[in-house]
Amino acid sequence: METEETKSLNFIEHIIENDIAEGKHEKRVHTRFPPEPNGYLHIGHAKSICLNGGLAKKYNGKFNLRFDDTNPETEEVEYVNSIRNDVKWLGFQWNNEFNASDYFDQLYDYAVKLIEIGKAYVCSLTPEEVHEYRGNPTTPGKDSPDRNRSVVENLDLFTRMKNGEFCDGKYTLRAKIDMASTNMHFRDPALYRIRKKHHWKTGDKWNIYPMYDYAHGISDAIEGITHSICTLEFELHRPLYEWLNNTLETTHRPQQIEMSRLNITYTVMSKRKLMQLVNEKHVNGWDDPRMPTISGLRRRGYTPEAIRDFCERVGISKRENLIDASLLEFSVREDLNKKAPRFMGVLNPLKVVITNYPENQTEELEAVNNPEKPEDGSRKVPFSRELYIEQEDFMEVAEKKWFRLAPGAEVRLRYAYFITCQEFIKNENGKVMELRCTYDPASKGGNSPDGRKVKGTLHWVSAQHAITAEVRLYDRLFKTETPDKGEGDFKDLLNPDSMKVLTNTKLEPHMKTLTSGTSVQFERMGYFCVDKDTTKNHLVFNRTVTLKDTWAKESKK
Ligand code: ATP
Ligand code: MG
Repeated sequence: METEETKSLNFIEHIIENDIAEGKHEKRVHTRFPPEPNGYLHIGHAKSICLNGGLAKKYNGKFNLRFDDTNPETEEVEYVNSIRNDVKWLGFQWNNEFNASDYFDQLYDYAVKLIEIGKAYVCSLTPEEVHEYRGNPTTPGKDSPDRNRSVVENLDLFTRMKNGEFCDGKYTLRAKIDMASTNMHFRDPALYRIRKKHHWKTGDKWNIYPMYDYAHGISDAIEGITHSICTLEFELHRPLYEWLNNTLETTHRPQQIEMSRLNITYTVMSKRKLMQLVNEKHVNGWDDPRMPTISGLRRRGYTPEAIRDFCERVGISKRENLIDASLLEFSVREDLNKKAPRFMGVLNPLKVVITNYPENQTEELEAVNNPEKPEDGSRKVPFSRELYIEQEDFMEVAEKKWFRLAPGAEVRLRYAYFITCQEFIKNENGKVMELRCTYDPASKGGNSPDGRKVKGTLHWVSAQHAITAEVRLYDRLFKTETPDKGEGDFKDLLNPDSMKVLTNTKLEPHMKTLTSGTSVQFERMGYFCVDKDTTKNHLVFNRTVTLKDTWAKESKK
């Protein structure tokens, strides 16, 4: 029977605990995160990092960061640095950092060994011919005419491939397994290709580069990885992964375990597609706050804790799934609610004049910094005759259940006073430009003087003290839930309104000193993060996420 403890294990933890119980892998746990440095990491990678790094922590094991740099065409140092930075920022420290290219010599020696034992050969078929010879899942393939080349000849050709005697594409080294296998990956898969290309790490040393499937499993074995976790599409590669390590009799025999990829609604999750968005300038770089990249989420104001919590909630499974983007928002709200200091900031200002408040008077009113953290204390915010409130907090003709400002209505200004709207002034276009209100001096602090109740509480700032800032509001990057899955170009599904820039937001004066990367709550309006575009005289915020908006829900009904 399952105990409470085993019930909460995910299927990979089950495997690991069984392995430990059976003494497999000398009872070690050693995982790795193997990114290809050909782009910035996204939230799908975060799931893999949290899982691999988390398992190593949980079972007192080790965790490697390994750059899968077998493809010299697409890899760059910029990506390597961003990946290191993102993994660390997420809160995971790797025990070792390696590159697949560290093993190019060993991988070459292993290839020679395969040739010597008659398990690999140099093939001269063109890619088209290889494809044709391969057959399909229901038809067996045909042997390459080079399949029975002698060991001596294979060794000679492979050496010359390495030495750069042949042009790209002239030959490949292929494993000699089974052209009739029902598993297509067993039909003599390519192990090496000729690519005369400079490599960011090994320079011009190599004219041949190992294929991913060949390099990956052997790299795992060389590093003593015990549990090699990958995504579901590699399930059919597993027999090859095992065949290579068994045939080569590597010291360690890591086990490959597949899990489902993370997919999230209203976004795409592939470096190739994200790269297109960047290169074609649909977004402003990899760290655009609308991107599902770790750097984009960070700039948006997501915390490592929120992302780790999200990955935990999503869980590990073997089923393909699509996670609602609102779960990410939920996680960051939960975290920022505990941490973010509160301020008052008006996104779309509407002038309010308190007609019975003395001109030239200013009061300093006490405002709580974070109701969730009393130890964070309070601050003083200035109050005066002219204020700004949010345009959307006033309605000319109040609807049912409208508790905010309207002609004749009384509301509380947070930490300040009760005010009543007496008059409103419109411009020639019929837009409300100014409210004229009176305040009740006896309601100081926002407390009712006589037990009378007001339902609405609004945020505000004093007009003469306010600072002006730029605020960027974000919506979903795509118009449809699964932009990946449609026919045609996914970029046609981009949401044209995914970013809205407000240039005249009014903030309480304390906010002037906030520095880039700081997260705060604008009371009632959401969580915001100071953007890196901020300069001494120009504050820029990104809205991370809104608070739950009760009126929006109400008006939808
Ligand atoms: P992409 O398709 O975005 O380029 P990838 O799998 O090619 O992704 P890699 O750099 O090869 O990118 O991935 C590094 C690790 O991250 C791999 O172990 C891979 O399984 C894992 N990974 C990538 N995308 C996801 C995802 N959406 N969900 C979970 N794990 C992922
Ligand atoms: Mg890849």
